[in-house]
Amino acid sequence: MYKILHLIIIISLNQATSYAQHEVHKPLTILISIDGFKPEYLNRGHSKTLLQLGEQGLLAKGLQSTFPSITFPNHYSIVTGLHADHHGIVNNTMYDLQIPNQVFKLSSREAITNPQWWTAAEPIWITLAKHNKTASTLFWPGTEVSIQGKQPMDWLPYEHSMTSIQRVDKLLSWLDRSATQRADFATLYFSEVDSYGHEFGPNSNAVNGAIQRVDDAIHRLIKGLEQLNVLKNTTLVIVSDHGMAEVPNQNQINGSLLTKQYPHLMWEWLGPLAGFQAPKEQRAEILKTLNTEPRMKCWEKSELPKSFNFGTHRRIPDIICLADIGWTISANSNNKTIPGQHGYNPSEQDMHGLLIVNGPRIKPQSIGIVESIDVYLLLCELLSIPPHTNDASRAIADLISH
Ligand code: AMP
Ligand code: ZN
Ligand code: ZN
Repeated sequence: MYKILHLIIIISLNQATSYAQHEVHKPLTILISIDGFKPEYLNRGHSKTLLQLGEQGLLAKGLQSTFPSITFPNHYSIVTGLHADHHGIVNNTMYDLQIPNQVFKLSSREAITNPQWWTAAEPIWITLAKHNKTASTLFWPGTEVSIQGKQPMDWLPYEHSMTSIQRVDKLLSWLDRSATQRADFATLYFSEVDSYGHEFGPNSNAVNGAIQRVDDAIHRLIKGLEQLNVLKNTTLVIVSDHGMAEVPNQNQINGSLLTKQYPHLMWEWLGPLAGFQAPKEQRAEILKTLNTEPRMKCWEKSELPKSFNFGTHRRIPDIICLADIGWTISANSNNKTIPGQHGYNPSEQDMHGLLIVNGPRIKPQSIGIVESIDVYLLLCELLSIPPHTNDASRAIADLISH
């Protein structure tokens, strides 16, 4: 009897040991986006956790978005390594003659979940699935749509009202599984720093409050990962999609006034980045008028500066205008401006985003300004998967140890 009991104890101890080893050795990569967080926000005394992660890991001076410095294009670039011109999510709002009767906009679930908008690219969770790896995504543009018939293992329809803490808790509940069931890759998306940045401007107390709440939420995530015994093998890749610039109320460019000789002309995009369709024979004349406005620059889409890597996709309007930092293009100068805006030239310091990487393979290091599309190859490296066709360089991926 004693012998049998002894054997049972040895077998269960062995099982426990192998289970624990499995738990310890499976790596986890969590991609966290803090929408609209600029590196300067780290100096405001509201981000103790982020600063600590940056000090102990990799901290970049800035993460330069791909053009345009807008949410959906950049989030999709980070998970595909493609410029917006190539992955096709060229703005938060889009028209496409090949998708008639539908406007792509963030408030339309029907459009956001229509695969036709998304299928030019293969986001990382699809490549992962092809290599028998899984993803738990607590929000990320593209996760709500079936691409090549696949979606992440865990995902939710976007719910703006969910607090930052609730988002962390939901992700932790998905990660609370045995190693074999737990995802290899996770995403987490925080919206409130961007929302308050728009509503009250980047220098407001409201933004400082949001920075603190997101920092607290990341602290809670770390504690939760510790409790699940996965922190040691977790790499956190913390990014933001763009920064935020202050827009004084008088800094408006009346776009409609400039194009009033063309009553049929309809601005498809407005704000720091604006654009519309125009017949070929009228474009030169319209551009001449538009470029009399000193606070913005307009181009035919094919003439955009090479550094933008933007201008060939059919969803980009024929004429593109980009306002100077701190200015906005509106349809009517009586509109009140939005106090904080992004969408400006990604090379502007105010448009730079955040990059912090912290994990077992990351040595403490401060680096300069790097490009957001290059985060993709870092993710592929951490996840040990071959990258899909992409525009990225190994500038960030080569900074980690093997
Ligand atoms: P932007 O207009 O570029 O400032 O976009 C930021 C906004 O995008 C956020 O405040 C959210 O409301 C929205 N957003 C972010 N992610 C998603 C998503 N996955 N689905 C729908 N809307 C989203
Ligand atoms: Zn954004
Ligand atoms: Zn925004």
